[in-house]
Parts: sequence; structure tokens; C-alpha cells
Amino acid sequence: MVTIKSWEEIEIMREAGRIVAEVFVAIEPFLRPGVSTAKIDSIAEEVIRDYGAEPSFLGVPGPVPYPAATCISIDDEVVHGIPNVNRLLQEGQIVSVDVGAKIHGLHGDAARTWPIGETASELLDLIRTAEDCFWVGLEQARVGNRIGDISAAVQKLAEAKGYGVIRTLCGHGIGHELHESPNVPNYGKAGYGPRLEVGMTLALEPMITLGGYAVRQKSDGWTIVTADGKAAAHYENSFAITADEPIVFTVLKNEQSL
Ligand code: MG
Repeated sequence: MVTIKSWEEIEIMREAGRIVAEVFVAIEPFLRPGVSTAKIDSIAEEVIRDYGAEPSFLGVPGPVPYPAATCISIDDEVVHGIPNVNRLLQEGQIVSVDVGAKIHGLHGDAARTWPIGETASELLDLIRTAEDCFWVGLEQARVGNRIGDISAAVQKLAEAKGYGVIRTLCGHGIGHELHESPNVPNYGKAGYGPRLEVGMTLALEPMITLGGYAVRQKSDGWTIVTADGKAAAHYENSFAITADEPIVFTVLKNEQSL
């Protein structure tokens, strides 16, 4: 069931989203060669807790309860990479960091992908396109439109550039639960799917690849990688549908683009 949030709930989600955005500011200087993914995760968790929030991902049920505050996914890892003290970032990689924070019972969820040091231009374009896909999708996030309008806009841009669009993972409603209805796929048909209403709160998260869209799960039970081993980029924000422009929770004011 899709839940509609009150303005009080949306105000709290803005707060949760701001905390997630502050995590990105805090970790950015550490996204360089030689830093472990566990170090990035510990900085993120510290920021979340300093704001009086809790990491949304820690303890999420799975084959093993999720053991960290963030998911850090490198190169062909699409999502759900587990931070590790022995995993050191290397020059030329691309690294996505997915962060969730819960405060006063409501969640914020967002992801960014960064290049590590000098990185191939095709990877930089992949990262940029994942972000652009979010913003063209968001342009469709208007009352009266449907989820499929968002999905189709994301897919169109990614495929126009020749990138694969992951099918089996998608965006989602968000609020009191990290994952709520409806699903927000990154592919689909305009004019189809649930209608967007004022007070719906969603996470849109384009995941695109340099190759195909098939994925597989690694033996750790969490990490999802591309089946063809090609690099993937991920960009996500949480936002609310309003009578006017959507409110994006997980960006700081001066960061919003398009
Ligand atoms: Mg999400």
C-alpha cells in the first residue's frame, strides 16, 4: 500500500535527508586511493549518529543481517557492497556509496558514485549519466503523472547513451519503512503504473552499466555485480511529490542541478 505523508512527516524526512547529504560532504575527501571502504563507512556512521539519527541499513535482514551503515560498491559491483577494512580504494576505480539515515521514525536514502583519482573518461561519463538520469526522471515526478513516466524518462536517457539499465533492482517508496510501495523501476512505459499524488515520498535510484543489465549475487549474500563484469554507476535521492515541484530531501540547497 502506498502511504501518503503529512507535512509534519515530510519535514522530518527533510531532516533525515539533510543528514544523508551531510554524510556525502564528510566522506568525499576520503574517497581516494589507499583508504579502506570500512574507513568510509565509519565516517558515515559517525556523522549519522552525531545528528542523533540511526543508520537505516545496519541490521537490515538478509542471509546475514546487513553489517554496516553504508553500502560501498566498486566498479562492477552495482549495489550492496559490504565495507571491509581490507578493501582499499584504488586509482581508476569508481565507487558508489549508498547511505540511509533514520530520525524520529522516518528514513532518508541516497547514493552517489565517485571516481577515485584519475579515472577513464568512459567511466566519468557513466557516473554523470546516472546522475542526469535521476534529474530527468525527477522532472516527471509531478501530480497526475504515473510512475511509468519517471521510469521511461530514466530508461530513455540511459539507453540513448548506450548504457545498460538494471531491471531487477529499483527505486521505492520510503518513509516509516526504508522500502515501501510503490516500486520505482528505472525502465518502463510512460502512462503506466501508479498515479503520483501529493504526499507520496519516493526514492529514485538509476543504476546503469557500461554493458548489459543482467546481474548476479556474490557469495557474501549481499553484493550485486554485473553478470558481464562491466562497470556500473548508481545515483539516488529521496523526495516528496507536492502540488508543485517535488521536494528533494537528500541534497543540500546549493547542490541541486538541472
Ligand atoms: Mg534506495
